[in-house]
Amino acid sequence: MKHVYNFNAGPAALPREVLQKAKEELLDFEDTGMSIMEHSHRGKHYEAVHEQAKNLLKELLSIPDEYEILFLQGGASLQFAMIPMNFMKQNQKPGYILTGSWSEKALKEAKKIGEAEEIVSGKSSNYSSIPEIPSLFSDDYTYVHVTSNNTIFGTQWASFDHLEHPFLIADMSSDILSKRFPVEKFGMIYAGAQKNLGPAGVTVVIMRKEVADKANKELPTILSYETHMKNRSLYNTPPTFSIYLLKLVLEWAKELGGLEELERRNKEKAKLIYDAIDESGGFYTGHAEKDSRSLMNITFTLQNEELTKQFLKEAQEQGFSGLAGHRSVGGCRASAYNAVPLEACQALKKFMIEFQEKQG
Ligand code: PMP
Repeated sequence: MKHVYNFNAGPAALPREVLQKAKEELLDFEDTGMSIMEHSHRGKHYEAVHEQAKNLLKELLSIPDEYEILFLQGGASLQFAMIPMNFMKQNQKPGYILTGSWSEKALKEAKKIGEAEEIVSGKSSNYSSIPEIPSLFSDDYTYVHVTSNNTIFGTQWASFDHLEHPFLIADMSSDILSKRFPVEKFGMIYAGAQKNLGPAGVTVVIMRKEVADKANKELPTILSYETHMKNRSLYNTPPTFSIYLLKLVLEWAKELGGLEELERRNKEKAKLIYDAIDESGGFYTGHAEKDSRSLMNITFTLQNEELTKQFLKEAQEQGFSGLAGHRSVGGCRASAYNAVPLEACQALKKFMIEFQEKQG
């Protein structure tokens, strides 16, 4: 089998142990004579998987009892629309903190539903850092929306200490499960699974129960958080295979030592690549300011387009996959999510140094 170092931004690397287990169980799930994909979502075998996935997430992230975990579809992008549909109120605006393209998209959707406001934006510095947050923004905002990790620009909130509002909502699509964060600070957290949690197809929503009670009741049933909460995410057929794989990924994460161990590994991995950038004497330039650097998506450029192309071509030949920057910004991006092994980052560092040396 061809060996690759998978640095894809999402869908992204999955732990090999998880894929192996899924392979073993594919044709015969727990002696039932059929695949988990073929079980009814209302049957006891699938229901057990559904509940185990929720319980593991609750345990790993230390989610308090006042929160409900939902498994939805439509990606994080559907959440961009469902959030304002459910929570916007007349005569009250939500506020959005813009730290990259995904937060811009979230605000754009909100503006289609009603009035919404930008609180602060990092656009003028091409989203190279998390902007200074005004210390006292108004409690009058219906909710305040943030993006914890900016997948395209490679920046990440180092902490949420200075962020205060009664109803904070965070898009954590690209850094959930990578380090400890204070769940109780947020009314709602959401994440598409295809980076740290599992395959595409399921979106995890973590919501304080009282928040859903206050949501708009006039929505089409499927778009209302209350529906999914009342029906334990079984109102309609959930993406059962994606949730099964999510459960396997969470078991893997727990076995490894949970969030603390994942964070330790992620810091060690990211440091290798940032060191290669910082010690290159300007051959590689990181996009993010140092205090805003992401542990998940490491973005950098070379001196010109031609050299970048050559770097990506040779990297591909050496078995590195997914190193091209997002099509909207160019350059290079190494996504070192939870399932990317340390050896892949060591190999990338080595490749970066050797490529530089070759250029003389
Ligand atoms: N938010 C962030 C931070 C993302 O990285 C992405 C996808 N890369 C999205 C939202 C959109 O997610 P989806 O494709 O699941 O709709």
